[in-house]
Amino acid sequence: MNIKKEYPKQQHCPACSRYVKHSTRYPDYACDKCVLKAVDSKGRALQFINTTSAGHGCQAVLKETNELTKSKTCFIKGIKFKAQVAYLGGIVLLPKVK
Ligand SMILES: [Zn+2]
Repeated sequence: MNIKKEYPKQQHCPACSRYVKHSTRYPDYACDKCVLKAVDSKGRALQFINTTSAGHGCQAVLKETNELTKSKTCFIKGIKFKAQVAYLGGIVLLPKVK
């Protein structure tokens, strides 16, 4: 049926402007490096994990204490991001629209 076309599109991380793999679904996701820099509103380092091994659910963990937090909001370089479960599994961080 449809022949898969290669689009020479590029997109970049909204926090650091580094080029990332183009995603039609997530045109403004944070790159891997920025995901590692995510902090909460108090500046504590956050890590986002799936709540099930099947790759569903999304949960933030404070790296320092391994404490689970309910908030899916984080900050990267002062930009507000929201974590969500990625379509193909894992977590994707997207800028939070006001
Ligand atoms: Zn980045």
